[in-house]
Amino acid sequence: MADRANQNQTLDIPEGDNAQASQLIGTQLPSRSCAQCRNSMDPLTPCSKCDMASYCSKMCQKLHWLEHKYSCRLGRPLDEADDFVLACQREEFPTDELVANAFGFMYFASAAGRKRIFNIYCQLLNIYEVTEDEFREAWRRNKLKEFLLFRGSQIPSSALQREMGWLQQQDGFAAGAVHDSSQDRKISFDQWEPREKAEAYIFFYQI
Ligand SMILES: [Zn+2]
Ligand SMILES: [Zn+2]
Repeated sequence: MADRANQNQTLDIPEGDNAQASQLIGTQLPSRSCAQCRNSMDPLTPCSKCDMASYCSKMCQKLHWLEHKYSCRLGRPLDEADDFVLACQREEFPTDELVANAFGFMYFASAAGRKRIFNIYCQLLNIYEVTEDEFREAWRRNKLKEFLLFRGSQIPSSALQREMGWLQQQDGFAAGAVHDSSQDRKISFDQWEPREKAEAYIFFYQI
């Protein structure tokens, strides 16, 4: 009986450093239940590549791979900055409201304003090689506007300088800022986002 208890202990999955961060995402948390079927009765085997997700069977691991492969490759759970960067690389608005909120899109009442800030992001990331980590840092420190103006000012493009002039005037633009006019409140994320949510997710999982 004592032997059996010891055997079970060797199957325990250690809580990683990512445990706190992954609470934001919820699905990739190192845990004592199967990442696919949530079975917590059978012994679990961690993903041999990342050690973050554990499975009760090979079948469950296979079924979960579409969802897991992206985070597995990164070696950590996805966060808002990952989804944001993916959206910019695809040049499609972020499909997740949390992500849109994190990067200040909700500050703008109009689709035109959101499109304009999105174009700035896309240019900085896709053309001027501002890195994903810089964006993540700016978001985490809540210095999005300061960061954009600073990085934008380093780039010798008169078109971009015009956009920086416009951004400078957007008082209150920040990570998580939400437009606060009762008149425009009814414009929801769903309305300005193209009907590509489902397609975007399919695309995402096909990467
Ligand atoms: Zn399972
Ligand atoms: Zn993995």
